[in-house]
Amino acid sequence: MTHAEPTDVLIVGAGISGLLCATELQRAGLSVQLVDKGRGVGGRMSRRRKEGAVFDHGAQFFTCRSNHFQSYVDEWLDKGVIREWFRKMPGDTNPEGYPRYCGINGMNDVPKLLAGELVVHAAEQIMQIEYVDEVWIAESAAGNRFSGKELIMTAPLPQSMALIDQGGIQFEERTHHALQSVQYEKGLATMAILSGPSGLPEPGGLKLESDVLCWMADNRMKGISPNHSAITLHATPAFAEAHWDSDDAMRGQLMMDAAGALLKSEVVEFNCHRWGFTTASNPWKELFFHDAGQHILLAGDAFGGNRVEGAALSGLAAAEVLLKANDTSSELC
Ligand SMILES: Cc1cc2nc3c(=O)[nH]c(=O)nc-3n(C[C@H](O)[C@H](O)[C@H](O)COP(=O)(O)OP(=O)(O)OC[C@H]3O[C@@H](n4cnc5c(N)ncnc54)[C@H](O)[C@@H]3O)c2cc1C
Repeated sequence: MTHAEPTDVLIVGAGISGLLCATELQRAGLSVQLVDKGRGVGGRMSRRRKEGAVFDHGAQFFTCRSNHFQSYVDEWLDKGVIREWFRKMPGDTNPEGYPRYCGINGMNDVPKLLAGELVVHAAEQIMQIEYVDEVWIAESAAGNRFSGKELIMTAPLPQSMALIDQGGIQFEERTHHALQSVQYEKGLATMAILSGPSGLPEPGGLKLESDVLCWMADNRMKGISPNHSAITLHATPAFAEAHWDSDDAMRGQLMMDAAGALLKSEVVEFNCHRWGFTTASNPWKELFFHDAGQHILLAGDAFGGNRVEGAALSGLAAAEVLLKANDTSSELC
């Protein structure tokens, strides 16, 4: 089934980069639609529920250093969607610290808020893209077709490049190879329900430097799991790689063992989530890649620098360049 008329812009990926890009374009008067393979929006800014416990199992918090992004952060603070989780955590070297923000109910709050104003087709995994008669068409696994005059790809870059290569789309040769060479590290999250307080120090988030774990957080102390003591553990990239195919009972237990000395309560149950793409090990140096001639733009955290903030800045910059290109072409008409 084809979804209506082509919009001005079609965006693949409704993570923070795609959603902010779409918001900017729509506020400027363009018609936009997003397609995402997830059941919900937010990509790596996601949240899990289990037995009444709530876990942020991807991104844990976000920072803000740019004025443009700050205007959105201020809007979300005003709307009561986010709050400052902390400024300093154990081991921080900056004496003043700086704000780390989180959603009031979890990291998915901001993506959900943004998506509420946008046209998002969820649970649609794009399998193929093609440019036909000056329109981009993206076809999903379910056979649905979505179209737009401009295409913005915001999936983790290797996933976008796989679609681009499979569609036979070619950029300038050296750039194409360089885009293909961007790689991501894998990640592993273990989510555990505890019998009582975790015993973690304030603010409830801790960077770790062991062979197994790089982060742990208490979701109750964070304020998103009021009724249950629920912790999130993140494995180091090396551990995630080594245990990618281990079963949960083994890799989860190894992660719990590594956390054990820091925990003051018993583990009641746990399960794991595999992240195929955490952060790019060799991110792109610019905020986006634009092939104006082919009406395609690549954005996302591989361009902005491996964080929610970087992904957001990439999405905003992608919108800006497209709006400028749109202005120039309407002046030419
Ligand atoms: C475990 C973990 C911990 C992290 N911790 C932090 C942190 O504490 N602070 C921080 O700032 N950052 C953190 N990050 C990084 C941060 O989450 C990301 O940089 C940011 O969320 C990326 O946003 P994005 O929009 O670029 O990509 P994504 O959020 O990945 O969005 C891309 C979207 O594209 C969709 N997609 C992919 N392929 C297709 C397809 N074929 N068809 C349709 N849709 C598709 C995906 O479903 C996804 O929703 C963490 C990441 C992970 C995994």
